[in-house]
Amino acid sequence: MLNVYPINAFQDNYIWCIENSITKKCIIIDPGDEKPVIQHLLANQLTLKAILITHHHYDHVDGISGLLTHAQQYSGDTVTVLGPSNSKIKQITQPVVKGDRLTLLGTTLLVNEVPGHTLDHISYYVAQDLEHPTPWLFCGDTLFSAGCGRLFEGSPAQMLRSLKTLTELPLNTEVYCTHEYTLSNLAFAKAVLPNNPDIKQHIEKCQTLRDLDQPTLPSTIATELKINPFVSCSRSDVQSAVSHHSNLPIASELDTFTRLRSWKDSF
Ligand SMILES: [Zn+2]
Repeated sequence: MLNVYPINAFQDNYIWCIENSITKKCIIIDPGDEKPVIQHLLANQLTLKAILITHHHYDHVDGISGLLTHAQQYSGDTVTVLGPSNSKIKQITQPVVKGDRLTLLGTTLLVNEVPGHTLDHISYYVAQDLEHPTPWLFCGDTLFSAGCGRLFEGSPAQMLRSLKTLTELPLNTEVYCTHEYTLSNLAFAKAVLPNNPDIKQHIEKCQTLRDLDQPTLPSTIATELKINPFVSCSRSDVQSAVSHHSNLPIASELDTFTRLRSWKDSF
């Protein structure tokens, strides 16, 4: 049986851990810091088999070396480090590209390229199988709950395409983002769509979770299609909100996304 657990890091990062509860083998995604991960591995007697990297930012990669050293001392096993093929991350031992299928812990992961936040950004999709009843998406800093990553390297067109690729996944896909940004993203979503009942309801639900110190993640694709304006730029309510805010008519879905992203950057 496979399960996913969050490991808190830095101010608001989640390092996700996929664990097989029987074999005690695990995969770590985007370890920006090795310390909380090593703590989690030791506390749960887990053996690290692989590290998955979504992109090159320090808060996703700086813990790789420390984890490799830990694994060497703890089990002596070799740990595979998977990551984007067009990246300069030195510790990657298995570069992957769009369409690659990998088998790890007996389950299949599908790689996609989702540039926008960075140019090397990739995502990992785990289709449902006997070991876990719902599909999983590990999307780094591309799709956040109720938001999306900032455009540090890519263009709005690239990011819009990447978000579309992700939201075309099955509606019940669990979305594992890397940051706990949901409430602040929802505050922006509410400013864009003040009368949207789904956004209001989701704010209440997420506020309750945060009050209990629980993550608001994973989200699902179905939820994001209801509450996330960045994946709804073809919708007339989002388009008219953006048009009203910028005092200019909307030319296209891409135009909506571009102006929505810059509205959020100064929100
Ligand atoms: Zn990033």
